[in-house]
Amino acid sequence: MQSPVSKIADLIRRSDRFLVSSHANPDGDAIGSTVALGHILAHMGKEVVLYNRSGMPKQFDWLDMPGPIHNSLVGCEANWIFVLDCGTQHRVGEELFRIMGTRPMANVDHHLGNPMFGQFNWVDETYPAVAAMIADLADELEVPLVGPLAEAIYLGIVTDTGFFTFDSTTPSVMELAARLIRLGLNPGLVNAKIRNQWSINRFRLWGESFATTELYFGGQVAVGFVTRAMMSRTDTTPADCEEIVNFLRRLRGARAAVILREEPDGSYKFSIRSTGKDNVQVVAALFDGGGHRNAAGGTISADIQTAKERLIEALGESLGLV
Ligand code: 5GP
Ligand code: MN
Repeated sequence: MQSPVSKIADLIRRSDRFLVSSHANPDGDAIGSTVALGHILAHMGKEVVLYNRSGMPKQFDWLDMPGPIHNSLVGCEANWIFVLDCGTQHRVGEELFRIMGTRPMANVDHHLGNPMFGQFNWVDETYPAVAAMIADLADELEVPLVGPLAEAIYLGIVTDTGFFTFDSTTPSVMELAARLIRLGLNPGLVNAKIRNQWSINRFRLWGESFATTELYFGGQVAVGFVTRAMMSRTDTTPADCEEIVNFLRRLRGARAAVILREEPDGSYKFSIRSTGKDNVQVVAALFDGGGHRNAAGGTISADIQTAKERLIEALGESLGLV
């Protein structure tokens, strides 16, 4: 039987116009895999448009791009749409979601519970990052993993493995990183470009949000939050909230960490992190969210107090703390 990566390689060889997209509020894997696939397609002489509903976050502006990331689909004439790193089709944002189904779509993802919304689906949760899937695709298409393509792939894998600290850090992803380094990538330089992107505003927001942290179940669950008022006071955006939750995990004795971020409509987007066997994906799923065993999220339409209580109760039950 033909492997998914070889099928997708065939699909790419047969077509000539592509749209490459990922989820709104993109993280390093979303941007890294989008840009990496863009480079592969451009290298092959294909026409490619990159798209993200939220545009290109400033922190990634050091990436060498095959073209700009558009935040509008007006005039888009792709004959294949690639959707990368999206555990559900809604995460692409409304504009692209609306035209789904009008054109063939390839869904390339590594999230548990992906509903296989594409005409073509390559979903494999054994990959720690979609960028690592794109690296396999580059190999299949014989595009060398060097230069800007290598940096984009590296960005995706270090982001989704927490710089090789999460459980998702597999031997293969470290072998991939080793290969990129052997082929010329400078990890010191690229890590610095990826990490040293903080604004003073972000420091201030993090200070406020750390101050909201409370411990439950004898310190086994840590919960903090970010309100719209905090973001407007510090002149920051949801992108500045990413990673806060990973720092709450550093509290000694905390098995799960939660951060809740207020959305423009007053609902709360939550992120949960855990380690090892503690499955927080099932907790997120109770609120129609999803993700991975140790990193999951979703949205709760309630005030902060209620949203917190509901999550704490669900976590307590799921982790056997009550
Ligand atoms: P984060 O907490 O960083 O937003 O996301 C952690 C993981 O949970 C990611 O893999 C992300 O795809 C997933 N996730 C976050 N929010 C949602 C959501 O609302 N729905 C689903 N299905 N997955 C989510
Ligand atoms: Mn990812």
